[in-house]
Amino acid sequence: MDIHTNIPLKSLTTMKLGGPAKYFAEAHTPQELHDLYLDAQTKNVPVFVLGGGSNVVAHDEGYQGLILRIKIPGFEVIADDLNSTTIKIGAGEIWDDVVKRAVDMRLSGIEAMSAIPGTAGAAPVQNVGAYGQEIAETLISLEAYDTQTHSIVTLQNADCEFSYRHSIFRGSQQGRYVITSITLQLSKNLPAAPFYDSLQAYFDEHAITVFTQQVVRDAVSAIRADKLPDPKVRPSAGSFFKNALVESWQMDGLRQAHPDIKAYEMGNGTYKLATGWLIESLGFKGQTLHGMHVNEGNALVLINESAASYADLAAARDEIIGKVRDTYQVLIEQEPLEIPAL
Ligand SMILES: Cc1cc2nc3c(=O)[nH]c(=O)nc-3n(C[C@H](O)[C@H](O)[C@H](O)COP(=O)(O)OP(=O)(O)OC[C@H]3O[C@@H](n4cnc5c(N)ncnc54)[C@H](O)[C@@H]3O)c2cc1C
Repeated sequence: MDIHTNIPLKSLTTMKLGGPAKYFAEAHTPQELHDLYLDAQTKNVPVFVLGGGSNVVAHDEGYQGLILRIKIPGFEVIADDLNSTTIKIGAGEIWDDVVKRAVDMRLSGIEAMSAIPGTAGAAPVQNVGAYGQEIAETLISLEAYDTQTHSIVTLQNADCEFSYRHSIFRGSQQGRYVITSITLQLSKNLPAAPFYDSLQAYFDEHAITVFTQQVVRDAVSAIRADKLPDPKVRPSAGSFFKNALVESWQMDGLRQAHPDIKAYEMGNGTYKLATGWLIESLGFKGQTLHGMHVNEGNALVLINESAASYADLAAARDEIIGKVRDTYQVLIEQEPLEIPAL
């Protein structure tokens, strides 16, 4: 287990910002994770766990602790019956490789989450989702290293308290668990309508009427390639803002003032506001603020075109949040988590 020093966080994150990590190491097994974590804790060195770095933002000061990247492999069928296959996946596996393997096995449940960057272990953290699917729908359980008890624990789906782009891992238990594997139960049924609006629109446009997992994966990949910047070419963290959740009384007021506002009913009196629409309506789409470009394909995405520092990103973010708040009285939130500036 090598421990490296002074590794620039801009080289470990897709937003390509951030000063040096004092220490950097990779864990390839749960035992290595245990040893590295315990060693750091004994020496009072703070630890920040990283996967692919596609949903974090780093500060210019860097991180005066250990950045621990999870590289634990694994893809094992642990149960199989007439209707479903259950697979245990190592936290370090690349998420899109997992989706590809599941689709090749003609399994349904994650095909609409094709082409999301990052690792399998990070997927439960913000309950990743796209085009009408989210991981909460197929995740049975996960294993994690509990940094309080220094043991591997199993958490069931309900223990994770999943909601829209949220779970205990970025909420009440942030920093406590390091996920080592996830277990998904995938269906042997073919994907079937109703599909997410923009996915259905793509099918209609291309006269696609027969649906397989591969057909959905290909469609989602094509839509995403058209709308989202490739982080290897144009640095970003994907959606920089979450879609805002509002109550029905607030929605009524917003609809009266802005009849063409876009929102999706979530059930139990909550609406998900299309934050990209709010940002676009204020003229930000296609603009560059402090070196951060508001993506033409999807205004939720901020691309680091020429930002020199975290301060540039923060200035662009705050300008957008402030204008949305002043115009719509809605507070939109940043989606990527911050590596603390220690
Ligand atoms: C172009 C682009 C498109 C995107 N599209 C989507 C999308 O459609 N839907 C969506 O939901 N997200 C999307 N994202 C965001 C991102 O890809 C996901 O959130 C992904 O799950 C992050 O994985 P990662 O391995 O890069 O996590 P990281 O960015 O490395 O980490 C994210 C958080 O998870 C924690 N973490 C990482 N690994 C573990 C672990 N093993 N155990 C415990 N905590 C851990 C980190 O501490 C951090 O808090 C997109 C990002 C980009 C750049």
